[in-house]
Amino acid sequence: MKRSLPLIALLAVLAACATVRTTQPGVVGVDREQTMIASAAAVNRQAGDAYRQTLQQAQKQGKLNRDPAQVARVRAIADRLIAATRSFRADAPAWQWEVNVLTAKDVNAWCMPGGKIAVYTGLLEKIRPTDDELAAVIGHEIAHALREHGREKAGQAMGVGMAAAIGGALVGSRYGIDPSLGENVLGTVGDLAFMRPNSREMEQEADRIGVELAARAGYDPYAAIGLWEKMRQVSDGGPPQWLSTHPSHATRIGDLKTSADRVAPLYRPGTPRR
Ligand SMILES: [Zn+2]
Repeated sequence: MKRSLPLIALLAVLAACATVRTTQPGVVGVDREQTMIASAAAVNRQAGDAYRQTLQQAQKQGKLNRDPAQVARVRAIADRLIAATRSFRADAPAWQWEVNVLTAKDVNAWCMPGGKIAVYTGLLEKIRPTDDELAAVIGHEIAHALREHGREKAGQAMGVGMAAAIGGALVGSRYGIDPSLGENVLGTVGDLAFMRPNSREMEQEADRIGVELAARAGYDPYAAIGLWEKMRQVSDGGPPQWLSTHPSHATRIGDLKTSADRVAPLYRPGTPRR
């Protein structure tokens, strides 16, 4: 009787989870259906807490928004992209967006679930992006949030945890071993499979939507190509494609070009089109 509890819990989770369309497909045609288990509210609340802590720590260390001109530039570009998000989801422009610049060597930028954005000075200083290129990076990161990739991965981890618990109980009952041991082993496999940064598919979706957001916000959609060329040059090649969650460079550039061709008619330099 006790062993059936995880199964009941799993059924409850499956009943609660839903196949959703987080975004409209846009001109670039991103239309993969997603299965969500974690609630958006819970994921966004946790992301908001993590963001707040990150900012507080940076503030204490004197690493938050050091250069007002730099912050103003990043926010101006992000604001135009955020206004363009309505093409993919009607609710997105009203999210509690935040945009901050962190002093750090890493060539990095991210957007947490719910619209909490950070751009690192390492990216600004090592890549020296044009406004169009910076729009490409921020647009890519915003696209991850619009697609709720973080929530999707959280749900996958929850699903694997649940399956591992059941698998552990089954393995334990069959072989007479401690169920918690089986649970641990399977839990590790689950971590390897799902606790990865982003799938290649998610990266491709972010690339495509990012290019369209840039074009709609009045930024050159082809700038994404030059941007990722520069990113590759500073990253010393990176791991081979089969080891990486990122698509190979050639695959990525080809896909960005295709997307830029599609959204080119939307692009008027410096003029947002919503
Ligand atoms: Zn990405």
